Amino acid sequence: MTRTLAQWQQLASELTIEGRAFIAGSYRQAADQRTFSCLNPATGQKLADITWCGQEEVELAVKTARQAFTAGSWSELAPLERGRILKRFAALIRHHNDELALLETLDAGKPISDTTSVDVPGAAYCMEWFAEAIDKIGGEVAPVDPKLLGLVTREAIGVVAAVVPWNFPILMASWKFAPALAAGNALILKPSEKSPLTAIRLAALAQEAGIPDGIFQVLPGGGDVGKQLALHMDVDCLAFTGSTAVGKLIAGYGAQSNLKRVWLELGGKSPNIILPDCPDLSQAARSAAAGIFYNMGEMCTAGSRVLIHKDIKERFLSELQQAAKNFYPGDPLDPATSMGAIVDQIQYDKVLSYIDKGQSEGGRLLLGGKATHVQQGLFIEPTIFDCPNPQLSICREEIFGPVLSVITFDNLEDAIQIANDSEYGLGAAVWTSDLSTAHRVSRRLRAGTVWVNCYDEGGDMNFPFGGFKQSGNGRDKSLHALEKYTELKSTLIKL
Ligand code: NAD
Repeated sequence: MTRTLAQWQQLASELTIEGRAFIAGSYRQAADQRTFSCLNPATGQKLADITWCGQEEVELAVKTARQAFTAGSWSELAPLERGRILKRFAALIRHHNDELALLETLDAGKPISDTTSVDVPGAAYCMEWFAEAIDKIGGEVAPVDPKLLGLVTREAIGVVAAVVPWNFPILMASWKFAPALAAGNALILKPSEKSPLTAIRLAALAQEAGIPDGIFQVLPGGGDVGKQLALHMDVDCLAFTGSTAVGKLIAGYGAQSNLKRVWLELGGKSPNIILPDCPDLSQAARSAAAGIFYNMGEMCTAGSRVLIHKDIKERFLSELQQAAKNFYPGDPLDPATSMGAIVDQIQYDKVLSYIDKGQSEGGRLLLGGKATHVQQGLFIEPTIFDCPNPQLSICREEIFGPVLSVITFDNLEDAIQIANDSEYGLGAAVWTSDLSTAHRVSRRLRAGTVWVNCYDEGGDMNFPFGGFKQSGNGRDKSLHALEKYTELKSTLIKL
């Protein structure tokens, strides 16, 4: 159903927000009653008090998860039956689309038009996809000496902790919980302290769908909760999405504790190369603008570096600036808004400090560069810099905000060299009319996803998502994601 701004405001005023942790089948406060305030970044108003879990809650959740896993009421369910329950969970997410979208918009400042059409439906689709897949994949009967029968099977890994970020809270959580639950694991979800609301609400929906107690638990809190889970001796797998800096710490926690499987989906500084034979420069400009300004630039795959050939630069820049104007910040609850608020004060200050740095290091500000004040919230204009060289901080470091760095190149070799000269390798794009150039350049780009003549296309679950280099390891989405949440077993039977 399409609602007006007034209807969304009305719905928001009637919303009951749950802020407690979900452990062993019920919502509960932390033993020490500690809470933190959840603020709406678009208005500064407090939305709820959220439970800040401590070591006691972590211990209880891990113990409960272990018991639930070992009891087999989930892991030993026939895959068809597990799939049925998970499809019910997906259907409940769909059924509560507007409520979840509203929570996400209020909590993270994301435009309601996106949360209703992308974030929540995307999470439901992800859950449904893995629920449908799980009874259709099997193991192998391996060639072996005829006196033996050799089976290669995949088994649930056990207790999985998922620590997730704030930029796509429900969607990034679903990329973890959907394959982990489908594979038969007990899952503990640790949402970001900046955006805990949808994760907390999902726990009740999981229970309503029939997921047994202890199989889906939610522990809100800060980095300390993530750290305790990552260091825990009885957590078998830590699936993380977040910054490269925290990812490195988590890899260390895994090594310091029980060598749990650690999967990291980390940051990016993705290049978007526009070659002189670009088939449609206007389209390329619109895609480049959406590639960085969608979701306020708070995207791991943000096309934050546009690499433009000198011969087409002037025309491209004029079209790009025009396209960027479609992303002016507004009230996230207004269905006409295409760019919402920056998630919190820390991120807002970080983005503005990069804008200052861009100017002080010699970048030429082409558009934006300022905070805007819609409703006393945290809003920043879409900002574009023309950069004299690719060594500027704004060309190398992940800003995670609406700031685009444009870098000029002379020839294809330069473009590829600049594109790959990054510690990251998450996404990359190239625009060309030549099929061979498209293939050659895609092969040479060191990135987990390469787009040709488009940017950020492909919501389909069939494509693995993840990074080369310091953008992480492992892959979310697709059947490959199940590899994260299963152990391979060889069984040899003497006949
Ligand atoms: P972050 O690393 O600050 O936090 C991510 C999560 O880790 C949060 O839940 C946080 O509470 C927790 N955490 C913080 N310190 C911790 C510690 N020491 N031990 C354990 N857990 C800890 O990242 P963020 O600011 O929430 O998210 C933005 C980052 O996420 C960006 O770098 C972005 O590129 C990345 N990201 C990557 C992908 C991907 O799929 N590759 C997707 C979305 C976001």
